[in-house]
Amino acid sequence: LKSPYHGGHLEVIVGPMFSGKSEELIRRLTRAVIARQNVQVFKPALDDRYHESAVASHAGRSVHAVAVRGAADIRAHLSGEGTLLPSGAADLPDVVGIDEVQFMDPELVPLVLELADAGVRVILAGLDLDFRAEPFGFMPDLLARAESVEKLTAICTVCGAPATRSQRLIGGQPARADDPVVLVGALESYEARCRVHHVVRP
Ligand code: ADP
Repeated sequence: LKSPYHGGHLEVIVGPMFSGKSEELIRRLTRAVIARQNVQVFKPALDDRYHESAVASHAGRSVHAVAVRGAADIRAHLSGEGTLLPSGAADLPDVVGIDEVQFMDPELVPLVLELADAGVRVILAGLDLDFRAEPFGFMPDLLARAESVEKLTAICTVCGAPATRSQRLIGGQPARADDPVVLVGALESYEARCRVHHVVRP
C-alpha cells in the first residue's frame, strides 16, 4: 500500500526588521536547491509590474525571485498562465518561498493552504508586528495555521538586548500611532528595538 503522506506543509519565519528573516529564508531555500528540489520564490513588487527579481538579505546574500502584485499573480504564475519563465509548466514546485509576506493580500492565506494541501513545502517570511507593535494584518492567521513557526530577534539599537519590535522614525523622531503605515515622500527609517526602547507617540 502506497503511503498517502506527501509532506506538504507551511513554515513561517517572523520577527522585526533586521532579525534575519530573509537570511533564514535564503538558507532554507538554498538547502532545498542542494537537495535538487524544484524551488519557486516570490516577493511583493514595489511597483505595478510583475517581473524577475531577487530576495536579498541585509547582509548581501540573495536568491532569484519573481516580484508579484499579490496572491492572484502567484496563482497565475504557478499555473503557468502568463509566466515569465520559458517552461510554463503547470506542475507545482516542491518548495514555494515568499518573502515580505505581510505586504501580500489576504487571498494569500487560502492560496498557501491549498499549496500545502497539494503537497508543497511552503516557506513564508515576514513581519509579525507593525511599527506600533500590533499584529500585522493576516499574519496571525498564517501563524496559527502553520506547522512550524520560527520567531527571530534582532539587536536593539539602543541597548543591545534582543529586539522583537520595529521602531519607525519620521525625521529621526518616533512615529505616532495614527501615522499611516505607508507614508509617501516622508524621510522615514526603521530600527530594531526591544520592548523597553520601542516608542510609539500617542
Ligand atoms: P530581515 O529580513 O529580518 O529584515 P535580513 O536577513 O535582511 O533581516 O538582515 C539581517 C542582517 O542585518 C543581520 O545578519 C545583520 O548583518 C544585519 N543587521 C543590521 N542591523 C541589525 C540589528 N539592529 N540587529 C541585528 N542585525 C542587524
